[in-house]
Amino acid sequence: MPANILNLPQYTVTALKEDEHDYHVSADVSQQPLRCPHCQSSDIRGFGRREQLIKDLPIHGKRVGVYVDTRRYQCTCCTRTFYEELPVVDEKRKMTKRLVSWIGRQSISRTFSSLADEVGIVEGTVRSIFRDYINELEKTVRFEIPQWMGIDEIHLIKPRCVVTNIENNTIVDILKDRNKKTVIAYLSQLKGLDKVNYVAMDMWSPYKDAMEIVIPHAKIVIDKFHVVRMANDALERVRKSLREQLTPKQRRGLMNDRFVLLKRERDLNDREAFLLDGWCQNYPELGLAYRQKETFYQIYDAQSPDQAKALFREWYHSLSPEIRPAYSDLVRAWGNWEPYICNYFEHPVTNAYTESLNNLIRVMNRLGRGYSFEALRAKILFAEGAHKVGGQRPKFQRQQSTRLPEFSRVANFNGGEEYLEVPQFLRRDCSDSDVGENPASTWYNKNYGVDISTLATMIELGQL
Ligand SMILES: [Zn+2]
Repeated sequence: MPANILNLPQYTVTALKEDEHDYHVSADVSQQPLRCPHCQSSDIRGFGRREQLIKDLPIHGKRVGVYVDTRRYQCTCCTRTFYEELPVVDEKRKMTKRLVSWIGRQSISRTFSSLADEVGIVEGTVRSIFRDYINELEKTVRFEIPQWMGIDEIHLIKPRCVVTNIENNTIVDILKDRNKKTVIAYLSQLKGLDKVNYVAMDMWSPYKDAMEIVIPHAKIVIDKFHVVRMANDALERVRKSLREQLTPKQRRGLMNDRFVLLKRERDLNDREAFLLDGWCQNYPELGLAYRQKETFYQIYDAQSPDQAKALFREWYHSLSPEIRPAYSDLVRAWGNWEPYICNYFEHPVTNAYTESLNNLIRVMNRLGRGYSFEALRAKILFAEGAHKVGGQRPKFQRQQSTRLPEFSRVANFNGGEEYLEVPQFLRRDCSDSDVGENPASTWYNKNYGVDISTLATMIELGQL
């Protein structure tokens, strides 16, 4: 009898064939049933057989099919017939459970088609396993509620809402859209929202409205980046309309103008300062617009909300009529959002990840062609190794009596149940109790979410 290549003690391998692409393993269930599942009588007798083809984990790069010679029995007591159960097999999917859990984990970082090809199944099955796996992860993975929450917009196929932990530079969730309803639904299912002290966001009313309904105690701060960016946009408007009026020769004189103009004055090197000075003399409107951009930035040197408001008034009254239209969006936004913009001067909360987040999303969009939003979201949120876990090395403690399960029972698509393995890195208690307050119970780490720069590096290295 061939060695048990399957490494499944529940089965006895009776034959093994191998060809270029596949292993064909014939096997029997090692342990025969002892009782009738209907009446529990032990008086049962053989009643034929049928062969079932079960897919298993690839071995040596080859697909594996297990031909299980399944025995059928009849109960002499109640006369009903039954097949023996196949241990460690997902009978509806005709796969070993370990294959199902492996596909689940792999489906986060690989294309469904490559997995289907490697295992020898159809892509739809991979997709269905992926969905179950994601549903399970959603229940298992709990990221810490950020004290400083960031709410931003990202473009993943279309505009989405990304929720971040500003102190930790992590992503904690990505919502399907930027609607008030979606944000409210998301926030409402979180536990421990009282921990959120500040919410940094862009000037998008649905976010503000949602926050004020669900976490009214949290202070809303408009991220500085979103405000000063509008000053850059205004300057860009002036620059572009000027360029349109110039001859090609004059335009050549404005080489690298965008780069230089958007720089802060204090960051210019001598050559750039010289160029800028020349342009401002030749094109006074551009010079004015540049000055306005710079003085707007200076508002952010204010030490208090009142000082910021005063500086804004001063800035507003200094706007020259020629360039006022270019700055009208910024003026309007300030008017609509002033209290929230000025909260910054009491609570200078700002995110440091905007650039790396944008890079990340750009790459995701490029690599993610053909994936659904749900798949891309899962790839980001559940990327193995990208989570930022906190806390110190736990003190040695006596073993807990209740072990965390390695497998989690989930309902599958066919209405039945199956076991999905919970990956090692996610095996942590996800109860709602606040474990952080009690040093004796910090034996599991806190998970702050997906570290943006780690994930970006993983993508660059092709690990996703
Ligand atoms: Zn029976």
